[in-house]
Amino acid sequence: MTIGILGGGQLGYMLALAGYPLGLHFRFLDPSPEAPVGRIATRITAQYTDRPALKKFATGLELVTYEFENVPVEAAVFLAELVPVLPPPAALEAAQDRLTEKHLFQKLGIATTEFAAVADRDALDRAVKKIGLPAVLKTCRMGYDGKGQWILRKPEDVLAAKNELPAAHTAARNHSGAQGADQNAPFLLERLVPFTRELSILAVRGRTGETAVYPLVENHHRGGILRLSLAPAPQLDRALQHAAEDAARRVFDALQYVGVLAIEFFEHEGRLLANEMAPRVHNSGHWTIEGAITSQFENHLRAVVGLPLGSTSALGCSAMLNLIGEVPDPAEVLTVRDAHLHLYGKSARAGRKLGHVTLRAASPEQLASRLGELPGYFHRPQFGLDAVLGHSASARR
Ligand code: AMP
Repeated sequence: MTIGILGGGQLGYMLALAGYPLGLHFRFLDPSPEAPVGRIATRITAQYTDRPALKKFATGLELVTYEFENVPVEAAVFLAELVPVLPPPAALEAAQDRLTEKHLFQKLGIATTEFAAVADRDALDRAVKKIGLPAVLKTCRMGYDGKGQWILRKPEDVLAAKNELPAAHTAARNHSGAQGADQNAPFLLERLVPFTRELSILAVRGRTGETAVYPLVENHHRGGILRLSLAPAPQLDRALQHAAEDAARRVFDALQYVGVLAIEFFEHEGRLLANEMAPRVHNSGHWTIEGAITSQFENHLRAVVGLPLGSTSALGCSAMLNLIGEVPDPAEVLTVRDAHLHLYGKSARAGRKLGHVTLRAASPEQLASRLGELPGYFHRPQFGLDAVLGHSASARR
């Protein structure tokens, strides 16, 4: 059975690695001739808009899934006429545009950050009046890892941000046929939430409607990029876990979802505010490879293929650290007990995710001590590791 995957980055790479023991084969489509999956699977190098290439890609496939949420919806819809596409293209459409996503959260009764659509410069003034400062201006589409975001703290920041905006917005028809400045606004303004911490939930729904949910994960970002995840999230209130599971189930039902879904939240004043969702396996779920009974990658494949889902229970506690821009000496990492190294085979470039390390331990205390043993690479300020270690140490005192 051959599974087609749109996107050939590290998420696809780890999906294939999890799928081979299940007897699955993989074919990838990615516009880049350097996509890392080329080392381990068949890769077609073509644009997502290249219909003859999509047709060739789909020939003989059991189904198509994706590891990149900015695949054009049109490509997924086109493929869905040839083979099943899971998660359904509607999930891709909902997650690609921050405004559509926020409206979906609101419609489903999932609490989210206060926001306003920003179509042009005047709309920014109105949005600032409504939301207040500090706030974050975000592009609605194609933003990731903190790209396409501006924090506005004072009126001068608002003035400067106007240079990013069109003087006046011309409403265009969007994919679902709706019209109006709001639906098509290229930006949105969100209240800057002084959150206690960031959490994410990974949940999976199978073809039969069976669901399973991993424990909430605590995430630490620097410069908009995920650096460190702690799983399960320390000192977790059961009510938050239930709220996150409830949010995931609402999205599952609304979209008739199949596969792994990630929702990122801010914990603020004891409750969860949804920030964004990803209709795919997620960086904050990498710990599940060693830290859970069944990894997110295996469960995603089980779900889309129609196999029973595996247990999402955690095995002790884990920390996942991203390797960004450069890679530490593997030997130094692997001298730390229960450290697991994953390198994605990508060429080094500033800000690029090149791999990750997962540490597993029996208790939070043991995990903190293992994290302390990691080599100097991980103790640079941009990792935020020492701040986290200091913080959790003081939280325990
Ligand atoms: P995003 O691309 O929306 O996930 O944003 C990247 C990171 O920026 C988040 O993980 C947060 O650390 C931060 N961030 C984004 N939006 C907000 C917000 N409304 N309030 C506070 N921090 C935010």
